[in-house]
Amino acid sequence: MRAWTLGSGSSGNSIVLETGGQRILIDCGFGPRAVATRLKAVGIEPESIAGILVTHEHVDHAQGVGRAQHKWRWPVIASPGTLDAIGGIPDRWRRPVHPGAPLAFEGLEIQAFDIPHDASAPSAFLVTSRSSGERAGIAHDLGEVPEALVAGFRDAELLLIEANHDTEMLRNGPYPPRLQDRIRGRLGHLSNAQSAEWAVACAGPATREIVLLHLSEQNNTPEVAERTLRGALSRGRFRGRVMAAPRKTPALVAGHANGRSGSAVQMALGL
Ligand SMILES: [Zn+2]
Ligand SMILES: [Zn+2]
Repeated sequence: MRAWTLGSGSSGNSIVLETGGQRILIDCGFGPRAVATRLKAVGIEPESIAGILVTHEHVDHAQGVGRAQHKWRWPVIASPGTLDAIGGIPDRWRRPVHPGAPLAFEGLEIQAFDIPHDASAPSAFLVTSRSSGERAGIAHDLGEVPEALVAGFRDAELLLIEANHDTEMLRNGPYPPRLQDRIRGRLGHLSNAQSAEWAVACAGPATREIVLLHLSEQNNTPEVAERTLRGALSRGRFRGRVMAAPRKTPALVAGHANGRSGSAVQMALGL
């Protein structure tokens, strides 16, 4: 199982997950041309991707979904509310998924979970390979972790979870009080501490890698987020890898062959 982020944070989100011989995209916060450039930077052909999962309709996650779907003929898997909010996706490409009713898709099982966030019907996903049984949990843009997500992601091999802000940095940072309240509220974003608590509750003997998503540029740094998670996890049995996804550059974030480090693909993207 491998995962790449093409970008992670308020300037655009997109993840490629490869498991059980399939590749899927999760979110598409870039236009098709930028997606193609970013995929190329990590050596992935768009044609090798079987479909796209969408967590919610905010522009940093969904602005490219319609055009990318049209260009590459990708089925779009999302909650009915998210599909409606994106709009314009022809019926034959819509694959609605409901919590409690896993969707079979190209050798994968896709399970959706409702999450609290200020969008119409936002979702987190657990993707299970039907051939290998490996599981990856993906969740960003949530203000709180629902109980179902603690149980749902427990002992997954790969966790891709939001660690948006450090609470101290947010409090002392440049954001006005109203925006701070939105971010730390129930419909906002997870702090490093919330993310750490969740990771500790989920990480089990099978868990190998934890990738931190959607870091705030103003109110977090990769070092602070990784240190918070590692510190909390070190008190348990987790001995895997913790890595913050780079905000702007595409990177292999999970499944590094031969233990090579996953430094970001540093190249001019021409954006
Ligand atoms: Zn977002
Ligand atoms: Zn959002």
